[in-house]
Amino acid sequence: MKKLINFFKSFLLLELLKGMSVTGRYFFARHITVQYPEEKTPQSYRFRGLHAQRRYPNGEERCIACKLCEAVCPALAIKIEVAERADGSRRTTQYDIDLTKCIFCGFCEESCPVDAIVETRIFEYHGENRGDLYYTKDKLLAVGDQYEQQIALDRAADAKYR
Ligand code: SF4
Ligand code: SF4
Repeated sequence: MKKLINFFKSFLLLELLKGMSVTGRYFFARHITVQYPEEKTPQSYRFRGLHAQRRYPNGEERCIACKLCEAVCPALAIKIEVAERADGSRRTTQYDIDLTKCIFCGFCEESCPVDAIVETRIFEYHGENRGDLYYTKDKLLAVGDQYEQQIALDRAADAKYR
């Protein structure tokens, strides 16, 4: 009996009409497609994009070489070498992040006691060679210097939840 009903149903093109009704519904609905890159969706101040190393306003790098970020990184993407300065403070002599390993979990940022390593809103970057995505300390500091204003605003917006 069921087979017979399905046989007659197939002549009435019910499945086709059902499909067309869905098409019609979305045809008149508000379009949500964004014409990237001319249009962009809003970003959270917690967006986890390209990493940056920050400095204090006097130009001194924030990082105190505690290595917490290196220890917490689940992808083993961070490599740090440390030396003591003449004034007794610890600073990194090498701070590299291999972005081909990074999974952008944000643990490094969360673990940092001085807000030195952060993830910015930048997601439009690329590398044509593997080495291009190996971010050294100089590259990370350069990103931080360039986007410090936005980074500081984002940290301030997030401060009450931390
Ligand atoms: S975001 Fe996660 S995976 Fe990437 S460097 Fe930081 S801790 Fe490692
Ligand atoms: S970036 Fe932060 S967590 Fe990582 S070594 Fe420097 S001070 Fe420590």
